[in-house]
Amino acid sequence: MIAAFQGIDGAFSQLVVAQFLRDRGLDASTLGMPTYREVATAVSAERASAGVIPIENAIVGTVREGYDLVAEFELAPVAEVLCRTDHRLLGVHGASLEDVREVLAHPLTIAECSRFLQSLKNARAIPCEDTGVAAREVARGGNSAVAALAPPAAARIYDLDELAANCGDHPSTYSRFLIVRPKHQAAEHPIALLAHSDRRKTSIIFSLEDAPGRLARCLAEFAERGVNLSKLESKPRLGHGSDHVFYVDLDGDARNARVEEALRNVRRLSVQVTLLGSYDAHVGVPLDYARGALRQAQGDTQAIAVAASWHPQPVHVHNNEALPRVSRPARPHGSALEIGGVRIGDGEFAIIAGPCSVESREQVLLTAHAVKARGAVMLRGGAFKPRTSPYAFQGLGWEGVDLLAEAGRATGLPTVSEVMTVDQVAPMARQIDVLQIGARNMQNFDLLKAVGRSGKPVLLKRGLSATIDELLAAAEYILAEGNPNVMLCERGIRTFETATRNTLDLSAVPVLRERSHLPVLVDPSHGVGVRRWIAPLCRAAKAVGAHGILVEVHPNPPEAKSDKEQALTFDDFASIVNDLAEIPLCHGKAPKCHPDATIPQGRATSKGAEPVEVQS
Ligand code: PEP
Ligand code: MN
Repeated sequence: MIAAFQGIDGAFSQLVVAQFLRDRGLDASTLGMPTYREVATAVSAERASAGVIPIENAIVGTVREGYDLVAEFELAPVAEVLCRTDHRLLGVHGASLEDVREVLAHPLTIAECSRFLQSLKNARAIPCEDTGVAAREVARGGNSAVAALAPPAAARIYDLDELAANCGDHPSTYSRFLIVRPKHQAAEHPIALLAHSDRRKTSIIFSLEDAPGRLARCLAEFAERGVNLSKLESKPRLGHGSDHVFYVDLDGDARNARVEEALRNVRRLSVQVTLLGSYDAHVGVPLDYARGALRQAQGDTQAIAVAASWHPQPVHVHNNEALPRVSRPARPHGSALEIGGVRIGDGEFAIIAGPCSVESREQVLLTAHAVKARGAVMLRGGAFKPRTSPYAFQGLGWEGVDLLAEAGRATGLPTVSEVMTVDQVAPMARQIDVLQIGARNMQNFDLLKAVGRSGKPVLLKRGLSATIDELLAAAEYILAEGNPNVMLCERGIRTFETATRNTLDLSAVPVLRERSHLPVLVDPSHGVGVRRWIAPLCRAAKAVGAHGILVEVHPNPPEAKSDKEQALTFDDFASIVNDLAEIPLCHGKAPKCHPDATIPQGRATSKGAEPVEVQS
């Protein structure tokens, strides 16, 4: 069994998860990841059976990132662990406190030890990604002027001397961690089988409109039922005026009748509620794991090897269980993506527009301003173009990416652009808001995994000859890497028909919406390929329940360097947007699904949506 933590050997969280499992008779190898997000990704993708995420420090306060990751990756919390953070100053053999000029430490540790650090007149603190790295760097450097703040266990692992003890600002400071497991973990997995204690806690995140008494009414729901709260923390709800998001821990399990009733009422008063889950409460004083001996290197190396050889299982069509993350039962009410203030997947109908290719600064800026003024909420533009002929315009490459990003900033529109290779993913993700996987790359599995790892929103186009199941399986690759931010896009498929560029398969929309919770977009431009037929297909896309459209617009279509036959003029685009306003949304509420699709949590049963024959 593999347990993921952030950092390298000697990190506090490693000690915590290793000891937690050992105390329960479970034998696990620990797997260090560079960031907490990667811990969440590894657990969500079931590359690790358990993980540990910090959620609070007694001196510094709430670690909101921890709560947010549990929510975003829908991890199932198992238990909270309070662990005393026993900070020592560690240096190389022969070093003394007076020699120290630099102290490497995790940023949380720097905050926890601020008084001690101030007392070291000649030394400055240098933030380090984790406690283990801090200790290892000191050992590697062999410099007596450099020390690390780390637990006593790290002194043993890295053969360092202790130069000072009790470095924390308070002798009983501790950190609170959540042990988490994958939401879809098999019910017979030893972690899923751990018995619950009778002291349970529940964490929720809810958003409230900024109105007098709103928070008080929510809190009263708990107070009136004798439900004790142990945390209340707020932050602004970005992009929603002065609304706020509240992080709450409460005593009791969400299935307890009083808690359940209070939560039901809070849901009514809130704009949004996320139930992170219920877990075993820590009872008694914080544990002293910092001294704990660790099972060493060999087991960890094996764990890394196993993780590296992990691949998603082959899929079987028409089976929700084979695609547990994209299938509708994973989120019976559908999922929505929030991209730069634009919400796709519920309510509004999203219009994404822009040129097929970014051709020049003038062209993309002009188009961006024009489509924004006419109602687009997102800007598309290709910089790397997958062209059938090697002699056709191949796109401006990185210059095009820079120009699209500039146009996005100038208009405030989030941007979408296609990535064609694994190498392009990380640099593109730094500049562009949504990574498009083009039709020709829908089954480029390495590319799917790479955009999955990037965590960025992905617009996944259906392949030219791909079935609906293959499209869903391609999306599953991305979700399996821990990236839930995927939009599916029907863009026309190859059929015997030659009157249109492709055959826009609008029947895919209700099928995809029934099978999957992911937002579904339609690209009539590539679907039909002829300017004058795009408008009716945009209307049809909205009527059939798509969550939005993607269309190509150019300031001067005859001059377009790619796909000129299907480029809309600014006027064409304006009239499409006007027409669409007349058509009611048909995705305001979740579509009717197969009864099994309403299973609220856990693995979908194999009795998913009825098989539907899809012709390829
Ligand atoms: C595009 O969006 O410009 C594009 C090349 O699309 P597709 O991959 O659907 O052909
Ligand atoms: Mn195009």
